[in-house]
Amino acid sequence: MPDMLRTLKVRLKTPLKAAVRLRRAMGCARFVHNFLLFETKSDYGDFLDELESRQCFGEALSRKEAEALCVRPEPVSKFSFNYRLRQLKKLYPFIAADTHSQELLQECQRLSGAYRRFFEGKGGYPRYKRKGAVTESIRYPQYVRLDLKRRQLFLPKPGWLNIFNKEMPVTPELAEGIHAATVVREGDRFYACMEYRVSVPETLSAEALAEDLAGMDRGVTVPLQLSDGTRYGTELKDSIQPLLERIKLLQKRFRHKTRGSRNWRALKKQIAKLHLRIRNIRRDILHKATADICKNHVCISMEDLKLKNMTVSAKGTAEKQGSNVKAKAGLNRELLLRAPGEAAVLLEYKLKLRGGLLIRVPPQYTSQTCAACGHVSRNNRKSQALFVCERCGHSANADLNAAENIRRAGRARIALAAGS
Ligand SMILES: [Zn+2]
Repeated sequence: MPDMLRTLKVRLKTPLKAAVRLRRAMGCARFVHNFLLFETKSDYGDFLDELESRQCFGEALSRKEAEALCVRPEPVSKFSFNYRLRQLKKLYPFIAADTHSQELLQECQRLSGAYRRFFEGKGGYPRYKRKGAVTESIRYPQYVRLDLKRRQLFLPKPGWLNIFNKEMPVTPELAEGIHAATVVREGDRFYACMEYRVSVPETLSAEALAEDLAGMDRGVTVPLQLSDGTRYGTELKDSIQPLLERIKLLQKRFRHKTRGSRNWRALKKQIAKLHLRIRNIRRDILHKATADICKNHVCISMEDLKLKNMTVSAKGTAEKQGSNVKAKAGLNRELLLRAPGEAAVLLEYKLKLRGGLLIRVPPQYTSQTCAACGHVSRNNRKSQALFVCERCGHSANADLNAAENIRRAGRARIALAAGS
């Protein structure tokens, strides 16, 4: 039986001493991260400059092309970071005194992982971590223990911490298997994401998947539209709109405060809290929606979102409406782009737990193609909501039409995979 890594997120009770200890560890990890990044950045500066200039002067159209023309430096290994870390600890004894060695070693590994992803073309160049960020995290790769009965979590150095959650959806056997966790600070709250492995059923046969397949379109007015007609997340807009307006107001005030003053800090915290609340609302809606979707389908096909982000303005989903473009763009970013892959991430693991599958299909033309006859034209889309085919006259809700196209693309994918 295949298995899968899952995480269990719980909120930690952190008395002042523990909170200070965790914040300090995160601060030291940030220091190490920024220091090592600064050092390597100068090594890689030339490479990055060359990349940029080749793109600027039109020698290469895309980043990929530019990278092919430049000489790639050797990827950074975690061993060189670990070596530097030992020297750093001697230079700055406070980082060794305030942390468990694992915390900092893990930070080195995270940074080298970020570099690896960058050189594989999977992620952007690693960035500096800012002091006073809304969220930060630190990972404990070993020695973590969960005591289900006493509802306590052991972390090396902070020691045993109480857990807020009354119930935890893990069996005692699974709790035994927990040895690693990431502690996340969100505002003033601390959470622990504990890692454990669960076995999942084998993926169902191609026929079974194809039979129970639905396409899903993501949009601004309807966040999730399924090809069977159900829609999810329509309440999102109304629930976060007042929060967004409040943020806007506070930001206006924020601009007039003296940087670093007591008022400035208080306001900054308040704004960050509102952003967190928006995120939590969205996450809650997405969790409920994806759980419901998984009850009704074992296979979902969805547009590949990395590509969609670039096509969203070309499609003219929001801009077509004309008036108040800027404000709408802001809202769209809030609704759609801030968590581009979140629905996909949730759906993927929830489907997997039931032997299902998430299929990603190319997003081109899904909103311009007629689901009845296959005619492709930009003019097919009459408005944000209405789709009318120029050739056969088929008319439907635009999102539903797109979802149907996505379902077909997914079906073709399954057939292709089964055939080969
Ligand atoms: Zn048609």
